[in-house]
Amino acid sequence: MATPDIFSAEDLISAPALFMGFEPPVRLAVIGDPVAHSKSPSFQNAALRACGIEASYSRLHVPPSRFTEVLRALPAAGFLGVNVTIPHKGAALAGVDVVDAGARASGSVNTIVVNGDKLHGFSTDGPGLSRAIREEFSVDLRDLRVVLLGAGGGAGRAIAVQCAIERCARLVLVNRTLEKARRLAAELEPHFPSGRFSGGADRLVAIPFEEADLRRELENADIVINATSIGMKPSDESVIPASLLTPNLLVYDAVYTSGGSRLLDDAAAVGARGANGLGMLLHQGALAFEIWFNRPAPLEVMRKALLADL
Ligand code: NAP
Repeated sequence: MATPDIFSAEDLISAPALFMGFEPPVRLAVIGDPVAHSKSPSFQNAALRACGIEASYSRLHVPPSRFTEVLRALPAAGFLGVNVTIPHKGAALAGVDVVDAGARASGSVNTIVVNGDKLHGFSTDGPGLSRAIREEFSVDLRDLRVVLLGAGGGAGRAIAVQCAIERCARLVLVNRTLEKARRLAAELEPHFPSGRFSGGADRLVAIPFEEADLRRELENADIVINATSIGMKPSDESVIPASLLTPNLLVYDAVYTSGGSRLLDDAAAVGARGANGLGMLLHQGALAFEIWFNRPAPLEVMRKALLADL
């Protein structure tokens, strides 16, 4: 029987034996709602094949109402682990038995390991972003003054926590709903003990999504990271006005599309270096593979498969 591209919550709960019956058995998956668009199966399956691991990685379409039930059904169905995507990352944090410290800090779980009948939760989004930045721009987060757009969302929070853990030089949290950015700044304050940066500006600040505030902060930044959902649709406007971009600013758009984005087009037009979220996607997946199998991920195999799938 050919392995379907996607399974339902009902498949897992009513027919757990189904998954071990495929050749190779389905023992990993990404859980989401929607999930059909996920690129993870292409590069995770390429990694499994390259490493000679007798398992395959599929998609599980699970609505929020059945998420916890599905988590609990994973051990009996023979799963080694799963990835978790929109909208379940917060529920996954609450639903696992053991939470890694990084996942606890980032407020979400995107990678789960099945260990007997216990579920262990991790977050690879922030570390994946960090690896992507190093790969794309040959710099480390800790050396950068970062302006983070969309700090109040799930990805934004994971990136902010990573910046804090790595003690980046400066972190400006920007969010449409300012209160969320302020709460996050209060939480992350202990990671920025010196309080003041050269020129007297706070090392950690929260600002509204207003042009004048953005202009002031971007003038003193090394990198702007877009973690808002703006840019996912081809018709989307740029997340910030093109006039705010300068040639020395690095521009990272966490949104991943096969084409570019308005933000990256605007960056290229002023001569700024830019990169899209494919690197973050690849590295968060490679880190998940390393967590499941305790061995290095075949990164170049995964990259080739991801690019071929676009
Ligand atoms: P989310 O939790 O829904 O957060 C969305 C964020 O966007 C919030 O901060 C929200 O602000 C902001 N936002 C939405 N519409 C806006 C608007 N019109 N103006 C200003 N801000 C707006 O989504 P998420 O899961 O964090 O995902 C965000 C993006 O990151 C998506 O594009 C996703 O594809 C990408 N992502 C990429 C990777 C990767 O591996 N490359 C991984 C995860 C996510 P409010 O708080 O005010 O609502």
